[in-house]
Amino acid sequence: MAVRAAVLPAIGAPLEITGIELPDPGPGQVRVRLAAAGVCHSDLSLSDGTMRVPVPAVLGHEGAGTVVAVGEGVTHVSPGSPVVLNWAPACGSCHACALGEVWLCANALNGAADVHARTTDGTDLHPGLNVAAFAEETVVAASCVLPLPDGVPLVDAALLGCAVLTGYGAVHHSARVRSGETVAVFGVGGVGLATLQAARIAGASRIIAVDVSPEKEELARAAGATDYVLASGNTPREIRGLTGRQGVDVSVECVGRAVSIRAAWESTRRGGRTTVVGIGGKDQQVTFNALELFHWGRTLSGCVYGNSDPSRDVPLLAEHVREGRLDLSTLVTDRITLEDIPAAFENMLAGKGGRAVVVF
Ligand SMILES: [Zn+2]
Ligand SMILES: [Zn+2]
Repeated sequence: MAVRAAVLPAIGAPLEITGIELPDPGPGQVRVRLAAAGVCHSDLSLSDGTMRVPVPAVLGHEGAGTVVAVGEGVTHVSPGSPVVLNWAPACGSCHACALGEVWLCANALNGAADVHARTTDGTDLHPGLNVAAFAEETVVAASCVLPLPDGVPLVDAALLGCAVLTGYGAVHHSARVRSGETVAVFGVGGVGLATLQAARIAGASRIIAVDVSPEKEELARAAGATDYVLASGNTPREIRGLTGRQGVDVSVECVGRAVSIRAAWESTRRGGRTTVVGIGGKDQQVTFNALELFHWGRTLSGCVYGNSDPSRDVPLLAEHVREGRLDLSTLVTDRITLEDIPAAFENMLAGKGGRAVVVF
């Protein structure tokens, strides 16, 4: 039986909402009925070609749902299990995996080249970032499925698969924010909001949200921001003004643009840490002069998927949800349908809203 999906027919082409046919799950595979799938900036980057996967593809990589069938050899979930999708399953055998840095697994996206489904007129489809979550149902490798612990509503749980793992991990694994430190977060989208909440959980004393849109102040403050700065050429100076002229201990950049990476860097105190989470294009050149690298003594680091191990961190995040420290519901700012995804992309480009989530 066909299910509905949002298909990217070619790079740069508009998404098509169409029926797709999924095979029964083979050995080591799981079929999942999606409850919800978040619209992440990476989906936009895949559709416009900033990031590339084989097409035509079913996009969507931040999802949660219920297992409907399992293939041979799958034992960690069974029909009826609530699950979170993990779009970057670690192979367990490459150099990064051997070092325990599973978020850098060299083989995590190998599945993107597979054919996981066909349109009803017979065109082969690839699964985008492995999990093809912009569909009522999907068939994925068992390693892409994490059991969802109790106490997390299924729709909210979708965000655990990308935005929250990324934002939480940026704070706790990459920047390693300690209690009492000051944090600035550049970009108040889905990841930025998760980063703000993570900074609050870490016990940051001052949490400064920075965004180009004045409309996001309320969202940012609800997520834990103590201060809100409207992005301008003056942002680093404003942030130094809020931190006894020092700059923040930690800046987290969630935009992926040269201008905001520079602003995050310049807002960081001498000896502080700047973490870049945003995924920018190759056209975004960021420059540093040799003297400032020496003088400021800052650490600049990239951060992939929050430097997270999803199988370890999803249960931890669920614990934060159950204890009321992490509020996923406030991250979901728009509940939409598959047909609304292009409008959600437009909002993202215009800098509006937090996370739009397709609810099936
Ligand atoms: Zn994502
Ligand atoms: Zn690996």
